Amino acid sequence: MQKRRFNLHTILEKRVLTDSTFVLRLEHNGLEFTAGQHIQVGPPNGIHTREYSIYSAPTDDFIEILVREIEDGVVTPALKKLEAGDSVVVNDAVGYFTIDKEVAEGKQFLFVASGTGISPFHSFVKAFPSLNYTLVHGIRFAEEAYERHHYEPSRYVACTSRDEKGDFHGRVTDWLTQNPLNNDTLCYLCGNCDMIHDVYDILEKQGVSSKNIFTEVYF
Ligand SMILES: Cc1cc2nc3c(=O)[nH]c(=O)nc-3n(C[C@H](O)[C@H](O)[C@H](O)COP(=O)(O)OP(=O)(O)OC[C@H]3O[C@@H](n4cnc5c(N)ncnc54)[C@H](O)[C@@H]3O)c2cc1C
Repeated sequence: MQKRRFNLHTILEKRVLTDSTFVLRLEHNGLEFTAGQHIQVGPPNGIHTREYSIYSAPTDDFIEILVREIEDGVVTPALKKLEAGDSVVVNDAVGYFTIDKEVAEGKQFLFVASGTGISPFHSFVKAFPSLNYTLVHGIRFAEEAYERHHYEPSRYVACTSRDEKGDFHGRVTDWLTQNPLNNDTLCYLCGNCDMIHDVYDILEKQGVSSKNIFTEVYF
């Protein structure tokens, strides 16, 4: 297979989810990936790109990313200004935050996300429809439960820290402390590094082996 470098992908659709968060649906352009991998994306006329987990599934005929604007950031304010018909630059998908189908057979999964860290889990759930998972999503307000209707209601837990409109009022760490795991569970953690450190500690104390804990740190 020929190696891709940065390619231009046209934006097919932009879905605005909150004042700061949106999904960009891009042309597929033959981009191969495994659920859980990420790409670098940037505005077409700039020199800067940033990593984004792929939100869509490998079988979709488009590529999607879920982006939260960081007001004083370099790339996200520029991405937010783009609309359908504009383009972005995209490179090859990389990363090891993936599910090995052979190992996963019959296993129980715990997915813990903060904010847009839900993105690779969205791809997993679309890619593996029979997955036995619980997705615990740490957000500030219930409106940040991005596209929660895409998950089975009994498998998705919105942990809201600043309002009481989620499924659980408190942080993901509080939920985990109150809901101890079967220590055979395969645990995937994605988002900011403080959340990942705190959750890792709790899981280890609950007897989950570090070989069953997989992490993707965003910032
Ligand atoms: C493997 C990987 C996958 C990623 N996937 C996604 C994704 O799917 N969606 C997504 O929105 N971001 C994702 N990120 C973060 C993304 O790469 C950028 O860091 C983010 O979009 C900010 O870029 P920026 O240029 O606007 O801000 P910068 O100018 O790069 O940074 C400004 C500041 O914001 C901080 N920051 C970065 N991200 C956040 C955040 N989400 N919340 C609060 N502060 C933040 C940075 O640490 C920095 O201090 C991922 C990062 C990695 C490493």
